[in-house]
Amino acid sequence: MQSIPYGRQHINQADIDAVVQVLQSDYLTQGPAVPKFERLLADYCGTAHALAVNSATSALHIACLALDLGPGDWLWTSTVTFVASANCGLYCGAQVDFVDVDSRTYNLCPVALERKLEQAEREGKLPKVVVPVHLTGQACDMRVIHALGQRYGFRIIEDASHGVGGRYRDRPIGACEYSDITVFSFHPVKIITTAEGGIAMTNNDGLAERMALLRSHGITRDPAKMTHEPDGGWYYQQIMLGYNYRMTELQAALGVSQMDRLDEFVSRRHVLARRYDALLANCAVTVPWQHPDTYSGLHLYVVRVQLDKIRRTHRQVFDEMREKGIGVNLHYIPVHLQPYYASMGFQAGDFPEAERYYTEAISLPMYATLQESEQDRVVDVLREALGN
Ligand SMILES: *Cc1c(COP(=O)(O)O)cnc(C)c1O
Repeated sequence: MQSIPYGRQHINQADIDAVVQVLQSDYLTQGPAVPKFERLLADYCGTAHALAVNSATSALHIACLALDLGPGDWLWTSTVTFVASANCGLYCGAQVDFVDVDSRTYNLCPVALERKLEQAEREGKLPKVVVPVHLTGQACDMRVIHALGQRYGFRIIEDASHGVGGRYRDRPIGACEYSDITVFSFHPVKIITTAEGGIAMTNNDGLAERMALLRSHGITRDPAKMTHEPDGGWYYQQIMLGYNYRMTELQAALGVSQMDRLDEFVSRRHVLARRYDALLANCAVTVPWQHPDTYSGLHLYVVRVQLDKIRRTHRQVFDEMREKGIGVNLHYIPVHLQPYYASMGFQAGDFPEAERYYTEAISLPMYATLQESEQDRVVDVLREALGN
């Protein structure tokens, strides 16, 4: 029997045609597809600006730089995330610290955040940037995090790598109502794909301008932005240190085509999630809890094994599922426990809720083309692996 992965892309003929059309056109990069993709995302989210780049990791990096994060500053993020949410701070020479997660959503816990801010204020170590991560596609408690940002003076980058197509309090994730910048990822396991790719959304004109420069060497051809008189029509000026983080036309064309099916993908994921919820009702697992303010993008469907109800270990359940062809995964190993971060002094016990989550979590297969018969097989194998 074929194994079932935890996530996979959906590519149709329209996607293929869109990419082939770019290959036959004049522009493989810096043509019309990237701005078109950006406009689609900005319109979808109701945001003023969208800056497409070659990955969400790059988007996080230029977002931090645009907010002037640098040496001597602190960036805080959730410890239950992909390493990129933290690494972006280190790229800028800032220091990184973590916040524990909420026991029901596994998102950055606003209560833990507030407690940590009170202490940091006393020690004069308040963060400049906080990166809430919308784990599985469910938005964090952004209103509270935003209010804390106002009180303690930090800026906010939403890492919504899992969240495109989701909503928070009746507005699309990416609207940036409670943040400076929101970042999406278009890696193939995410909700829509551009192969590799990411985007930074913002309503702030200045931040958009800085990010546009940062993604392309810090070079401008706009005489209005030049610091010196232009020499002639060939002239460009580098006015800051930037990178080459540009998205290609091939990627953007794929993204434009995928946007047609974004809502369909997300609603299909919701159908599958409700079906999992029902099928797992009598299993020794805790199914995902959805906060009433949120409509998740549902990138992931994470269950927590109820270890007190079974005679197997978490690892046994996980390994048995893998052996039987179910491509389960674990999102994520808490970042502070990664050897690279542990070498900075973080240790087991620092973030107990996140560490407890790590000992119980399993991501079940979740993607738009997952068939109900495959889902039944996942549940059967899970039941056997749990021994109940
Ligand atoms: C996938 C992911 C990223 C990085 O995305 P890339 O596009 O692969 O760089 C960052 N943060 C989170 C939470 C992710 O899941």
